Amino acid sequence: MTGRTTRADRLAHPTTRDAIRAVAENHGACLHPIQLRRINTDTGQTDQVLIPCGATLASKCPPCAERAKVLRAAQCAEGWHLETEPIADPPPPDEVQAMWVEHRAQAQAMRDHAEAAGQDTAELDELIAELDQEIASSGLRGKADPARSRPRRHRSTRRRQDASDLPKRRISPRTIGKTYATKDGKTFRPSMFLTLTCPSYGRVGEDGIPADPDSYNYQRAARDALHFAALFDRFTQNLRRVLGYEVQYFATIEPQRRLAPHVHVAMRGTISRAELRQIIAATYHQVWWPSTNTVRFDGEYQPIWYEARGGYLDPATGELLPTWDEALDAIGDDDEPWHVVRFGSKFDAHGVLAGSKDSTRCIGYLTKYLTKQLGECHQPGTDAQREHVERLADALRYEPCSPTCANWLRYGIQPKNSRPGLVPGACQGKAHRYDHLGYAGRRVLVSRKWSGKTLADHRGDRQAWLTERLGLPATDPARYRWEQVEPHDKDYLPSGRRLLRSVADRLQWENALNEARRRAQEALAAEVSANGRAA
Ligand SMILES: [Zn+2]
Ligand SMILES: [Zn+2]
Repeated sequence: MTGRTTRADRLAHPTTRDAIRAVAENHGACLHPIQLRRINTDTGQTDQVLIPCGATLASKCPPCAERAKVLRAAQCAEGWHLETEPIADPPPPDEVQAMWVEHRAQAQAMRDHAEAAGQDTAELDELIAELDQEIASSGLRGKADPARSRPRRHRSTRRRQDASDLPKRRISPRTIGKTYATKDGKTFRPSMFLTLTCPSYGRVGEDGIPADPDSYNYQRAARDALHFAALFDRFTQNLRRVLGYEVQYFATIEPQRRLAPHVHVAMRGTISRAELRQIIAATYHQVWWPSTNTVRFDGEYQPIWYEARGGYLDPATGELLPTWDEALDAIGDDDEPWHVVRFGSKFDAHGVLAGSKDSTRCIGYLTKYLTKQLGECHQPGTDAQREHVERLADALRYEPCSPTCANWLRYGIQPKNSRPGLVPGACQGKAHRYDHLGYAGRRVLVSRKWSGKTLADHRGDRQAWLTERLGLPATDPARYRWEQVEPHDKDYLPSGRRLLRSVADRLQWENALNEARRRAQEALAAEVSANGRAA
């Protein structure tokens, strides 16, 4: 060795910073930890504590995203094959709660009476609002009169002619599936794994590319994606009605290769394929929005915000555009809904047993893409795929994503909550973004009585297991105050040092975890040998 190295030689060595990142990733340490100051309020002692950033996307922080995914898998596994109800029936109202509810009932009667007599109800309305607050702070969930202050438009509720009727059962409060017995007396409680898809928008190949892009129905694909969450909601309502119990589910929304959303569902209990087919055919969601058939403003010709009247006007005529409410009121009984979303007839369903390999495999499948945005799941590799992405994005550009979408201006309607600066085609709604593919809802949809726990509860379970195994006190008797440390504070750790601390914290956690596992195994071995001696 001469000691002389070329630049190429030097660049071939990894930097220390890259190495720390790699080590951090290997150990699952957060790459962007948040620094908090923990102040003991009794002694005044201050510690710097780093907490993980908690990102759910691998593009932001791979270790945190992986942890979030594992937690979701644990949540999914815990609820899927439950044998007992996860949530006990709530107790009846206590005396205080009952008292407020009685006051509320009387106030309502007085108000309705006053209104019928043509008197001013302002004071009684105020009283009712106060009583509603008392009811909420007494610990009751929900509202006494949910329709209050939210007048609903009357829409025809007649079923669509082209949707079949569903058999309806009274829904019993049970949430767990039935058990079945085999001939030799064993019982089992099967659950199901379902996949529901969107309808066809035109034939596509293996690679998800339309055989004929010109006839592929991009508009329908875009609208279905925008309203997919509402459709799934309708599906679960129908599912419960047909099966007659509060079916619970853990569902994830993923894109297919053709970039249309589909939903994977872990469902508690079972359903026959015939019934499922029937529910899918009868499930639809109607979107009652103003028509977008005519483009009124395009290119240079755009509506103008008129501050004095607080709305947008047509520069050619000086007329204010109809407001969102006016446009909705103009929809008549003979009009068709703006869009009707349905599932495609293709679906997948199979039974899954608790503790089976298939159960683990399905949970892996359900959570597989959770660390990625929808648009990142299938990276376009060919020109044709890139073109397909492009065409879908084009279709989504001018579709209204919500009542507040800037795109309504294009069709001559002021969006709900209109404000200056709205530009059609430049709505900030997530649904229009490349990485969302038209679906802006939540990626994981979990019914309320799935495991009876929140994600934070599931996280707490793991912590509790560890502290119990290590014989640590579950709660710290000291009292602390927490403050976030900002970059301009003098105790703010530079990013290099934060990352090192993050790795060190993680190593400490791993050691604790290994120790806890070792003790758990020892305890198990001791139990087994004690049982052996007893026998
Ligand atoms: Zn992180
Ligand atoms: Zn929008």
